[in-house]
Amino acid sequence: MELLKDKADCCGCRTCEKVCPQNAITMIEDEGGFLYPHIDEKKCVDCGLCLKKCAFQSGYPKRKEFQPYYAYGCRHKKEHVYKKSRSGGAFVAISSRILEKKGIVFGVGYEEGSRFRRIIHKSAETKHDRNEFCGSKYVQSDLGDTFLSVKENLKAGRKVLFSGTGCQIGALHSYLGKEYSDLYTIDIICHSTPSPQIWKDFLDLREKELGGEVTALNFRNKNRFGWKAHRETLTVNGKSKSSRIFAALFSKSVMSRPSCFKCAYTNKNRPGDITIADFWGHEKAIPGKWDDDKGISLVLINTYRGQLLWEEAKKDLEWIDVTGYPFRHHNLKHPTKYPEIYEEFWKDYKENGFEYCIEKYTKHKITFPDDEEANKSEDSK
Ligand SMILES: Cc1cc2nc3c(=O)[nH]c(=O)nc-3n(C[C@H](O)[C@H](O)[C@H](O)COP(=O)(O)OP(=O)(O)OC[C@H]3O[C@@H](n4cnc5c(N)ncnc54)[C@H](O)[C@@H]3O)c2cc1C
Repeated sequence: MELLKDKADCCGCRTCEKVCPQNAITMIEDEGGFLYPHIDEKKCVDCGLCLKKCAFQSGYPKRKEFQPYYAYGCRHKKEHVYKKSRSGGAFVAISSRILEKKGIVFGVGYEEGSRFRRIIHKSAETKHDRNEFCGSKYVQSDLGDTFLSVKENLKAGRKVLFSGTGCQIGALHSYLGKEYSDLYTIDIICHSTPSPQIWKDFLDLREKELGGEVTALNFRNKNRFGWKAHRETLTVNGKSKSSRIFAALFSKSVMSRPSCFKCAYTNKNRPGDITIADFWGHEKAIPGKWDDDKGISLVLINTYRGQLLWEEAKKDLEWIDVTGYPFRHHNLKHPTKYPEIYEEFWKDYKENGFEYCIEKYTKHKITFPDDEEANKSEDSK
């Protein structure tokens, strides 16, 4: 069985691995830490289920209940919520309604004990645990056994909210293979998902440079630099240190998963019941409203189920109807453009390593504490 002709045909969702009746598929990391399926030909019986269930290759299930969607700009009523959220805190307002009904929420956090190295999908049954999902982690998350857990919870009659990228939502629907009235899904408008291995390299480098372990981090520190600035902040030895290293590579798209450049979800047929995003272009769409660079969410309502949940979420939000406005998000129109330097970047990474790439592809100059000492003693001579 040939599952993949081209790496760009796989978004790493693990559906093929989970549905294989022979357990013949294992997900293995490539040099970027991206997961790809490998088939054990001795176990494979050529049933073809893996290909049939691959939403990325076979055309994802399109959910055209509202065409076009209803659209809202919004912000959580509580300042402490939107301050720690990536945009305006829409996710907190929506997910809280599920938790209040004793439901379970799936979102993206850190694997315990991995020192922030592993970005994974997790479940939360309390608002405290759910809060870990707030804030975008600009790294592809590993879904692990999440789809199995979603199905078990639905079968047990619980309300389930699953949040993730468009490809992850499309994959979940394909994995489940039928509609569950208790399942709610939130997708994000997504630029692309960066390499898990480069994320680990980045943390290793910064820990060496800053001389200690990272104890807290923020992919975008909007409290210090504003919502629109893209800089990562790490806390090391009790001090916050910001840089524009990972963010620079992200915006150049050089470390994105190959499938992102042919993403089938970068259009207005959203796979989730609700879509959330940063409300870029708000200055023209809603002039003067929330004009303080503290974050505004854009929410698209794609299905009746999404609308019901949204109506309940509104009580925690200030919101404004922007249905019909021509949003400027290019990932609602087409995939992120394949950068001309993509192959060169990965060749450099494999041949010369991460630190070489940082100095070549970002403005950051690497300095280790020892170097500083060496420099100081040079100066004092
Ligand atoms: C990789 C990535 C690329 C994005 N690209 C864009 C973009 O181009 N344009 C745009 O407008 N918005 C983009 N977003 C979405 C945006 O950054 C916010 O996540 C979104 O607006 C939600 O903000 P909030 O304040 O409502 O939620 P928050 O409270 O900040 O909650 C964050 C939500 O995002 C989910 N999440 C966090 N990290 C990941 C991840 N790695 N993979 C999947 N889900 C994740 C959480 O589970 C949670 O549901 C992107 C997000 C990610 C993770």
